[in-house]
Amino acid sequence: MSVEALSYAIDDQDRLIRVDDGYYRFAAENGWDGAGASLGRSLWDFVAGHEVKKLQRLLLRRVREGVRDVELPFRCDGPEMTREMDIRIAADKSGRVVMFSAKLRAEEEREEPQPLFDPNVPRDNGDFLPMCAWCDRFLVEGEWVAVEEAAKRLELFRRSKLPELDHGICPQCSGQLLAA
Ligand SMILES: [Zn+2]
Repeated sequence: MSVEALSYAIDDQDRLIRVDDGYYRFAAENGWDGAGASLGRSLWDFVAGHEVKKLQRLLLRRVREGVRDVELPFRCDGPEMTREMDIRIAADKSGRVVMFSAKLRAEEEREEPQPLFDPNVPRDNGDFLPMCAWCDRFLVEGEWVAVEEAAKRLELFRRSKLPELDHGICPQCSGQLLAA
């Protein structure tokens, strides 16, 4: 069983000012490098992909300036596990400090491990596979598909190196974030 909940908070400069124990345990479970030194660092150091950053900044601005509080589902899959989570993003009265709390909704062990999610497998530089950073689906032949389907279509099991992941956001998730 994974960590069930984690939370962190940022100041008005988007620097991490508070992380809880769940954050550290989640980081360790998922092989995030340097998570121990997260405090004081910019939230954006931990977000991959230009498009994803842009959309999350927009969402954060809306939370600070008006909506104050949103809750959204997202996927956080690992090589051995599928995980459905909910994240709540809430600003304090001043809108300066924003608190992120993520909760695990459902977790399931995969029948077969999916190395695409493993940050430690060798990658083929220059061969890019677009991935949605929010729902963990992959763009293959113009279609956003789950990892099993992506692996099948790309015959990943026959390769010695996996493509590099290009973190973006799919149209469905982008619509969901903008509507939040
Ligand atoms: Zn998506």
